[in-house]
Amino acid sequence: MALAVTSSNAITGSFPSRSNPPYEPSKVLQLGNYQPLDRRDLSSTGVNVSRRRGEVRPLHAEPKKNNSMVPAAATIVAPEVGDTVEVEDYERLAKDLENASPLEIIDKALENFGNDIAIAFSGAEDVALIEYAHLTGRPYRVFSLDTGRLNPETYKFFDTVEKHYGIRIEYMFPDAVEVQALVSSKGLFSFYEDGHQECCRVRKVRPLRRALNGLRAWITGQRKDQSPGTRSEIPVVQVDPSFEGLDGGAGSLVKWNPVANVEGTDIWNFLRAMNVPVNTLHAQGYISIGCEPCTRPVLPGQHEREGRWWWENATAKECGLHKGNIKDENVNGTGNGAVHANGSAAEPDIFTTQSVVTLSRPGIENLVKMEERKEPWLVVLYAPWCRFCQAMEGSYVELAAQLEGSGVKVGKFRADGDQKSFAQQELQLGSFPTILFFPKHSSRPIKYPSEKRDVDSLMAFVNALR
Ligand code: SF4
Repeated sequence: MALAVTSSNAITGSFPSRSNPPYEPSKVLQLGNYQPLDRRDLSSTGVNVSRRRGEVRPLHAEPKKNNSMVPAAATIVAPEVGDTVEVEDYERLAKDLENASPLEIIDKALENFGNDIAIAFSGAEDVALIEYAHLTGRPYRVFSLDTGRLNPETYKFFDTVEKHYGIRIEYMFPDAVEVQALVSSKGLFSFYEDGHQECCRVRKVRPLRRALNGLRAWITGQRKDQSPGTRSEIPVVQVDPSFEGLDGGAGSLVKWNPVANVEGTDIWNFLRAMNVPVNTLHAQGYISIGCEPCTRPVLPGQHEREGRWWWENATAKECGLHKGNIKDENVNGTGNGAVHANGSAAEPDIFTTQSVVTLSRPGIENLVKMEERKEPWLVVLYAPWCRFCQAMEGSYVELAAQLEGSGVKVGKFRADGDQKSFAQQELQLGSFPTILFFPKHSSRPIKYPSEKRDVDSLMAFVNALR
């Protein structure tokens, strides 16, 4: 991802420009109820937005203190706004804007923060944010994080976007000394061995922090439907829980998530309707796009985040850019996004069918100890409060029904609470659900490696090993 800025080198008017005029009423009308905002109506939306006071500085005015972002930010075309800021209740604003359109939200964000806000652009379908900003008719800034590990297609896409909108993306790069130290000591692919956090910290999080230190607000393309484990509760606007802005200190940065409530399919409908250029990787099966070594295409039906850091737990699938999304329970425990890290809550049990054998602690200990079993077993380690376990209940129960009488036993072991450390040490529990196959002639269980938990995928796993 990277910060992008409309640059005065590229733009000479007060408008971000495409080769065509940015505001195309005939095009907008094709979208039916999708209408450009009438600036005169901005204060009549019923939204209690406190306005920044002070004179709006003319375009191309000298920016005030801005030691962040990029030096090129000195060529920003967006207007500066005054220093006096009313304290905003962002929780209330988020509620007020819950049903507002992304266009309305972005317009509000740009209106309120002027030159002190920028769109974070990753090179994927979050290009929709740029299109929305463009449609507001306001100046806007865009930045991107160039990690040095992006796909060639993404770099080409950046160039296409710059030309399409007549902007200069403001690229943030990692610190060369830090990258050199990491690669010298651990090699180019250390993230496959000890997790992506360290590399992401060097290549993404620190450059992002630098960028944000020069802003008072940023706009992200986060959506609730992107990651059930980490993004299901993001509001459309919030005080950034993780990073600091230009004024420093907690609460100094506002994070706008204008498409939080928009589904991926609607984003794509919008992109198609507006003829927005997209990353060619999407045509190759990529949905979520990040660094080349850490992103892969997904199959139809797979969740988009399954293509990111696929060798890690679903709960950890944030690169640090939106780490405020990760609850402590998720970071420390094995709960996939659920709040009951210890499994103590009185959730009704799941996988309750005669085809699924409930294993007690002695029962599964016996299963582990056996060198020779009468029949192979498929066992899910689960917690009834885990939403990923709940999501696979139907397919697991159906699988158990199909395997009845086949010679393969299907079981479940509740592995949260008091059983969690045992399951972690003895049963390879990493996150819920963990699915194990106990072969007939081997004591060592084999862990199901995929996040695809539909009947066909699980059956293929069983048939390959039985
Ligand atoms: Fe490094 Fe992968 Fe993170 Fe990119 S996504 S910064 S390559 S760990």
